[in-house]
Amino acid sequence: MTEFGVIIVGGGHAGCEAAAASARLGVPTALITHSISTIGTMSCNPAIGGLGKGHLVREIDALDGLMGRMADQSGIQFRVLNRKKGPAVRGPRAQIDRDLYRSAMRSEINSLKNLSVIEGEVDDLQVRAGRVCGVILVDGQRFFANGVVLTTGTFLRGVIHLGDQSIPAGRLGEKPVLGLSNRLEALSLRLGRLKTGTPPRIDRKSIDFAQTEVQQGDSVPEPFSALTEAITTRQVPCHITRTTTQTHDIIAENIEKSAIYSGRIESSGPRYCPSIEDKIVRFSERESHQVFLEPEGLTSDLVYPNGVSTSLPESIQLAFLRTMPGLGAVDIVKPGYAIEYDYVDPRELYPSLELKKLPGLYLAGQINGTTGYEEAAAQGLIAGANAGRAYRQLEPVLLSRTDSYTGVMIDDLVTRGISEPYRMFTSRAEFRLRLRADNADVRLTDKGADWGIVGTERAGQFAQRRDRLDVGSGLLKSLTTTPTLAQKVGIKVNADGKSRQAFELLSYPGVKISQVVDLWPEIGALEPEILEQLAVDAKYAPYLERQLADIEAVRRDEDRKIPDWLDYSSIPGLSNEMKEKFSNNMPGSIAQAQKLEGVTPAAILLILSEIRKGRQSRRAS
Ligand code: FAD
Repeated sequence: MTEFGVIIVGGGHAGCEAAAASARLGVPTALITHSISTIGTMSCNPAIGGLGKGHLVREIDALDGLMGRMADQSGIQFRVLNRKKGPAVRGPRAQIDRDLYRSAMRSEINSLKNLSVIEGEVDDLQVRAGRVCGVILVDGQRFFANGVVLTTGTFLRGVIHLGDQSIPAGRLGEKPVLGLSNRLEALSLRLGRLKTGTPPRIDRKSIDFAQTEVQQGDSVPEPFSALTEAITTRQVPCHITRTTTQTHDIIAENIEKSAIYSGRIESSGPRYCPSIEDKIVRFSERESHQVFLEPEGLTSDLVYPNGVSTSLPESIQLAFLRTMPGLGAVDIVKPGYAIEYDYVDPRELYPSLELKKLPGLYLAGQINGTTGYEEAAAQGLIAGANAGRAYRQLEPVLLSRTDSYTGVMIDDLVTRGISEPYRMFTSRAEFRLRLRADNADVRLTDKGADWGIVGTERAGQFAQRRDRLDVGSGLLKSLTTTPTLAQKVGIKVNADGKSRQAFELLSYPGVKISQVVDLWPEIGALEPEILEQLAVDAKYAPYLERQLADIEAVRRDEDRKIPDWLDYSSIPGLSNEMKEKFSNNMPGSIAQAQKLEGVTPAAILLILSEIRKGRQSRRAS
């Protein structure tokens, strides 16, 4: 068969979600990728989720994507990060067994209806009447489709740097892709170069774990997917070691041998995931950096030293590793390296992830300048859904900043572009009190069902949960009490004679579910998971109203000029990074300040408040 509704190029994290979303729409879909055996490969860290990223995984799951379920099948240590902080910034994360993940993803992809998997390298696009209509493989085979989704990761003109060696490659040991970049250039698209890096992989048998700190996962692992009842894979600990002054000395002495510092790599790397060379140079005042020793799998002897990505020569990598506690006799199995690759300026895309200059062509993942499996997967899902819907002559579907992190990411990409690899943080979302990992299904599953990408099992599971939430919420809002009775169970409320709902009481600081159950035993009959979710909703309800008012204030003030007298360096609460960004760019208006890459909504609110304060004191003087 050579004709499909949609063709997906690349079987990485974006490609798998794109292919599955298109197939779920009932569209005849082809996934063309270099090798079936590398489907679902995790090129870098053996982990999924984290702050912001865990939110994305839950959103992918809510839209019936694959990543959450695959991570649940292959996770070997689950931890909810920031558990002690508020639910809005908690991030589910799991250490993953690479082989288990890859085989789970491969068998899922192979089992999908409407999806054909084809091995081969796409070399060029077929274009007819100004619209993409298929692809051409390097061996000359032609395939036709109404839409094509490119998810080529780090492969476009990829070059690996290791010490003074530069090797054309898409990943270590895999060839780069050259033809497609030429085609994208011929479309007059703005292309750029980015870089990222990976640490050496070390041999577990050569580590003295007694000299390291043990880090256990959560005692009850919390799955990513609403469809996973329990995690059944064996759980293992991670370990933590640290760099020493000796480590820093070795790196500093050899810094010019690093591909990044010798000037051979000029492109930007991820500032928030810096190489060890960057850490030593940029944070020279720090005497030590933590290094997490993460197992690559239950049966693997490879350990991933998270925190020391590097492009120094292998001999220097070995020398600096051996200065850390527990790594005195460590052996390297695979060296770390940096990789440079082409990306397409994401401002070339509509929010549907379709290219403005070539209808029918969609881009998702690292090719759009992002970094990370989760960012790639979330874009893949949206691009695949839109390519599939276009085949079925349906309108494109969009997510917004108010309903999801995925919407925040796509809006950031297509409106602001990037100058360094883009990764997700909770601070990027102005509605983060609403966009929590715990309520992704409430925010998105109905939407996904309307779009046609949510299957019957998920839809059924969610309908049941929503019914239980509705019943619980109805109960909490129907029960009211007086201040006197509330005080009797230890809830501090003003003795103002006003009756209050159970839901309202749950929003008060320090009020426990058990106190509310003491007042109304019937609440105790609700399922614990449902009651906890409603308690979180109640806690956030007052803040959400305030947040909406803040957002409205920013919208109203978008055209406001920023006065010359504003001194960014003296704005209390503004991070140093933001101070530097505003001082260097001197935006003329709030709208211009918002467009600067990486500027957070919180920073804009601080500027607005400073302008107001300054105006008042100027008027008064
Ligand atoms: P990939 O997962 O790279 O998948 C691309 C797929 O497309 C591959 O299967 C490839 O074989 C296939 N393909 C490409 N071109 C063609 C073609 N023409 N024809 C057919 N098939 C094709 N992320 C982080 O968050 N933090 C990090 O520190 C980090 N470091 C990294 C270091 C390295 C060395 C690398 C390689 C990646 C790193 N990443 C890191 C990035 C992370 O791996 C990617 O963000 C993520 O895998 C991107 O997913 P993707 O689907 O866009 O592409």
